[in-house]
Amino acid sequence: MRYISTRGQAPVLSFAEAMLTGLARDGGLYVPEWVPAMSPGEIADLAGRSYEEVAFRVMSPFVGAAFTEAELRGAIARAYAGFGHVARAPLVQLAPGHHLLELFHGPTLAFKDFAMQIIGQLFQIALAKEGKRITIVGATSGDTGSAAIEAFKGLENVDVFILFPHGRVSEVQRRQMTTPAEANVHALALDGTFDDCQNRLKDMFNDFAFRDEVGLAGVNSINWARVLAQVVYYFTAAVALGAPGRKVSFTVPTGNFGDIFAGFIAREMGLPIERLVIATNQNDILHRCLTTGEYRMDGVKPSISPSMDIQISSNFERALFFAYGKDGAAVAQLMEELKTQGGFSVSQGALEALREIYASASVSEAETSETIGAELARSGELLCPHSAVGVRVGHAHLSAPTPMITLATAHPAKFPDAVEAATGIRPALPERMADLFARDERVTRVPNDLAALEALIRQERRA
Ligand SMILES: *Cc1c(COP(=O)(O)O)cnc(C)c1O
Repeated sequence: MRYISTRGQAPVLSFAEAMLTGLARDGGLYVPEWVPAMSPGEIADLAGRSYEEVAFRVMSPFVGAAFTEAELRGAIARAYAGFGHVARAPLVQLAPGHHLLELFHGPTLAFKDFAMQIIGQLFQIALAKEGKRITIVGATSGDTGSAAIEAFKGLENVDVFILFPHGRVSEVQRRQMTTPAEANVHALALDGTFDDCQNRLKDMFNDFAFRDEVGLAGVNSINWARVLAQVVYYFTAAVALGAPGRKVSFTVPTGNFGDIFAGFIAREMGLPIERLVIATNQNDILHRCLTTGEYRMDGVKPSISPSMDIQISSNFERALFFAYGKDGAAVAQLMEELKTQGGFSVSQGALEALREIYASASVSEAETSETIGAELARSGELLCPHSAVGVRVGHAHLSAPTPMITLATAHPAKFPDAVEAATGIRPALPERMADLFARDERVTRVPNDLAALEALIRQERRA
């Protein structure tokens, strides 16, 4: 399997190369040259199988010769062994025709563990084969950084440095980053905002001498391997509800469009998905785009579902690439307009192609809180604010007889303040991490200064 850039001008890569590279050199995102199909018989044969077995069958055609069967199966087994639920991604029923896909049983209690855990394992295998070492540097507003640290801690050929804005992440998020004791983990509290963290990260990637010296690598949500890992739970959920004999729809709490784009790939592979519903918070660039055809930046408004607080939605570029009939030049033109003019208009044909598949809605802050309380009364489910955004939109898009599956992207205990404000209940951490608040923290306070950050990384990484 070969990977091409959404902007059509970067080298064609193998799965392993695309995974280790992240962003394409023409500024685009890697996508598979073609999407392998699964027949109805092959999909039906997934019923009742373990999550790990389904993951192997769904992922292996995309991985191609990059990893052997034994390597891929081993990576999958190690990735999900630490999850707190044997089904990995269990389904619970909320209402007639409406189901919740719980994606928060991983080590950091958010869906990002599904992808990050497996790419940690795959990075390790690929680097050992090439005898290479890399330095992963990431910027986070919370969930991505903790998932990356959990996934890469203790791995031989990797050092991981995560920048987070000092004093601006939740206590659970901070402790998940600062309590792992492994020597290759470095939590850096930067004096500044999340944007400062992201900008210093970009500066590091643009400092080519530094980039080559330390073997800089990124694991942000545009990494194709992360999208691929997320395709798996669309299959397990749909098959549990009767696919391929029955169509299903999904509602996905959305920010950078990585999670819902995995649903699009599942649909392209042959999974009978009727609708993919984009649920956004008040940062609604995607809903505005689907409604009006205009994709226009608008400042970030902080919300109680902070992991969806985005100004632009980076993986949407992949959806545009497919909606424009894989025309890389057209996508490059749109992205140029986004950079120079702050937005672009989607062509009529592409907009129709998007509306064929996706629906959308946005949810206000008050509605999010109201939904957390209402769902607790209705079904007894305590939702995190991101999942509540999804559940509200999912209810509104129920269309019998097609079942709706809403993705629950984080555990309520990861966002206890918002949940307590909505319900009066302070959700407890799961048993297996109940001692999080008693563990020792290890963190380095860093200035918002590129030279100082680079000096620190040079000194602390294991050569
Ligand atoms: C990252 C995240 C999202 C948004 O997912 P995207 O793939 O960026 O659309 C939603 N909810 C939670 C809890 C997250 O951590």
